[in-house]
This record gives sequence, structure tokens and C-alpha cells, in this order.
Amino acid sequence: MNALPLSYSYRLVAISVVLSMTASYAAFGLADRMRVAKTRMHRFFWLSGGSMAMGIGIWSMHYLGMLAVKLPVQVDYYIPTVVLSLVLAIAASAVTLTVVSAEDVGWKQQGIGGLLMGAGIGGMHYIGMAAMRSSAMPMYSTPVVVLSIGVAVVFSALALHMATLVRGAGERVETVRVGAGALMGLAIASMHYIAMSAVHFMPGSLGYSPAHTVHIDELGQIGVSVTAALVLFVALFSANLDRRLYYRLRKAHAELAKSQSALVLSQRALKDANAMLRELSVRDGLTGLYNRRHFDERFQVEWSRAVRNHQPIALIMLDVDRFKLLNDRHGHQYGDECLREVARVLTEQSARGEDLVARFGGEEFVVLLPGCALPGAVAIAEGIRQGILNAKIVHDASPLGCATISAGVTSWIPEQDDLLDTMLRSTDEAMYAAKQAGRNQVRAATSTPPADRKRLPQRASQVPRKRPIA
Ligand code: GH3
Ligand code: MG
Ligand code: MG
Repeated sequence: MNALPLSYSYRLVAISVVLSMTASYAAFGLADRMRVAKTRMHRFFWLSGGSMAMGIGIWSMHYLGMLAVKLPVQVDYYIPTVVLSLVLAIAASAVTLTVVSAEDVGWKQQGIGGLLMGAGIGGMHYIGMAAMRSSAMPMYSTPVVVLSIGVAVVFSALALHMATLVRGAGERVETVRVGAGALMGLAIASMHYIAMSAVHFMPGSLGYSPAHTVHIDELGQIGVSVTAALVLFVALFSANLDRRLYYRLRKAHAELAKSQSALVLSQRALKDANAMLRELSVRDGLTGLYNRRHFDERFQVEWSRAVRNHQPIALIMLDVDRFKLLNDRHGHQYGDECLREVARVLTEQSARGEDLVARFGGEEFVVLLPGCALPGAVAIAEGIRQGILNAKIVHDASPLGCATISAGVTSWIPEQDDLLDTMLRSTDEAMYAAKQAGRNQVRAATSTPPADRKRLPQRASQVPRKRPIA
């Protein structure tokens, strides 16, 4: 007995191939949304969308493919089996999309995904064939059936592999997704048409019950196409919308992060500028030493501390000898250099962390030595005087031919009623005593002994006294 002649409507074949490719492209787009979904709910939503698109895509492709076949007998379809084939296509798609949308997809997962998808497409096809009701009897060629499933598995695995490449595709993401969709569509279509070449319809008189069957005519064709197109449109539209929202959100996040880091940078710059400004406000412009204002503040602080702790506080005040003459002889510029050199020696000679060296004004400098008794302070002043001599700053109008300094020194253990100004004045007097004694020397202040303070309590607040430290 001869097989019934088969002919194809190539228009429907072409539509079926395009349909399966578009469905696959949409499914991959939806599955890709799964990965970036924030909640399980969203994930489930995208998985359902992707599986429906892929499942309906496979299913419609099959029935369009079947309608493309012109058989000389009437063909009906048994509805429960048709529904089963649709459910199977959707379920296979869901499992596959879950496997390949995991965070880490290796070769193993891609292989399993390909196997499941290939089996799903094959299962769908053969169940779909089993839904056929006609007077013709389908006869299958086993090797070609096996080949059709094998081809579906291989193409599916390749397509899934390509779909996973979307993650690293950067700008080319859309191109890669189109490629993956085309490959998967090819997997579905080639499975179908290879499978169709495995079947021959023999004329037979197998009667069948028309109950629960449907005849797919022209209206059916339109129905399948329109339904599939509608589902695909919704799937593509929603995936695209979500993707756009996602990228817009990501861009907004990036911009926010950028402006936040710019803010942090400008805050840091402002802090640095403030610190620099603060530093500048306490420094002397010419020598870089602390200025008079800062000295006054620190002196007050250290003074109070010394009162509280009954600790000594020492002060050295020094002045460059015959500085006016140095300016006159060597010029103002040279005078400035000389002051800078004096500042360097001062810093060198009073290296303790708590000491404070400041320019008091003109060619006068002060060294504040918290916790320092008189002998120690005198020794430091001597070191400074010697350091200036060693620096050999040329000064033609000086008897030694180089710059010298004269210094006055005090060290007090201040009490509540004592005044800091009095100590300052006393140091100044000691310095001028050094000048009067011939310059280039150190003089310690002579102070009122503490016994006097006790004898004259009524004057203590008006006339502050000082006492030398042993
Ligand atoms: P003495 O030994 O008694 O201290 O004599 P002197 O010439 O050093 O004393 P006097 O106070 O008369 O002179 C101080 C001079 O210091 C006057 C002023 O022109 C000069 N002077 C003050 N500030 C500066 C400065 O910043 N740079 C320079 N080059 N000279 C200054
Ligand atoms: Mg001077
Ligand atoms: Mg002076």
C-alpha cells in the first residue's frame, strides 16, 4: 500500500519558523529579567512569562507546522491531548529557563538544560502527533525520530549556551540575544520538520470518535497565529519595559553614587582648605613660626595648666642685636633672611614636643617651655645664643662680625593670683638687662620670693609677683 501524498504550504512553514524564533527571543529576554529580579515574586513572574512565551511558541509552531501539511484526508485533533502537549511545552520551558537563569551556569547546567529542552520539544511534538485524528495512519521511521530528538537537544544546548553569553555581552547584548533566539527557534523548527520526515501516512480505515475533537481550518490558523503573536507581543513589550526601567534605575543609581563621591571629595577638599586656613592663621608669614596671636592663646592655656598642677612654666624672650644696623648695612631683604635663619636655629634648639617657638614681633622671638625650671630654661637659652653664633650670619656692624642675640629668661610656678603679663614683663626686663650688659648674652629674671607674697596678702591681687625656680 502506498503512503498518502504530502505537500507543504511554504508560507505557513516560513511563518512557523519565524514564530518559533521570535518566541525563543522573547523567552530569553524574560528569563534574563529573572536574574535581576529583586524579589521571589518578581522572579516567579518573569519565569512564568518566559515559560509561557517559550511554551506557546513551541506549541504554535507545531500546529502551524501541522497546518502547513496538506493531507488528502480530513484531520481533526483530540482536545485533551492538544492541551497536554501545551502544558508539556510550558513545563519543559519553565524547567529549562530555571536551570539556565541560575547565577552560576556551567557546562553541566547548559547540557542538562539542552537535554530537558530537547526532550520537551520532542515530547510536545509526538504528543501533538498523537492528538491527530484522521482516517490516515501515521507510520514512524525510528532512526529519524531519534535523529529529530538528537538535533533538538544539540541545538537547544547551543542556544542555551548562547543565552548565557548575554551576561558578558555588554553593548552587544541585544545581538547575542537575537542569535540565541534564532538558534532556539531553529532547534524547535528543525525538530519538527525532521520529525515530519519520519512519518508516513498510510491510508487506513481506523475509525475515530469525533467527541472532543477540533478541526483546524483557516480560522484555526488565524487563531493560532494571532494568539501566539499576542502573547509574544505582551512578552516582548513587558520584558523591554522592565529592562528599560532597570537600566534607567541603574543609571540613576550610578549618577547618585557619582554625585555622592563628588560630594565626599568636595567635603574633603573643604576640610583640607579649612585646616590649611587654620594653620595659616596661626603662622608667621616670614619665618613660618607660630605668630603672636597663637603664642598668646597657648601661653594662657599652659599658664592655667601650670597653676592647676603646681608645675613650673618657663619663658625665653630674645631679640637680635643691632638689627637695625644689619638692615641698614646689608639691606632689608638680607634682614629677612637673617630672621629666617634665627627661626631655624630656634626650632632646632627647642625640640621638645610641648615647647612653643613664636615670633613675638619684628626681630623679637619667644620660646615657651611648659614644665621647665629656670636652670633648664637658661641652658636652652644659652644653646640658642650659641646656635646663632655658630650659624655665622654675617653682620658687618656687629663687633663679632656676625649676628648675635640677647635673651631674658623666667621660670615660675604660678599661683591663682599671679598674672601672666607680669611674667612676660619680667622676661622682657631680663632681656633688656642682657642688652645693657653688652648684648650677646642670657639673663635670668630676678623675682620676688614667695615669702613676700605671704607677707603682703592685701596687695597680691594688684601687684603680681614672681619668684625664681631653684
Ligand atoms: P638692639 O640691639 O638694641 O635690639 O638694636 P636693634 O637695632 O636691633 O633695635 P631696634 O628695635 O631699634 O631695631 C629693630 C629693627 O628691626 C627695626 C626694624 O626696621 C627691623 N625690623 C622689624 N621687623 C622686620 C622685618 O620683618 N624684616 C626686616 N628686615 N627688618 C625688620
Ligand atoms: Mg634688636
Ligand atoms: Mg627689638
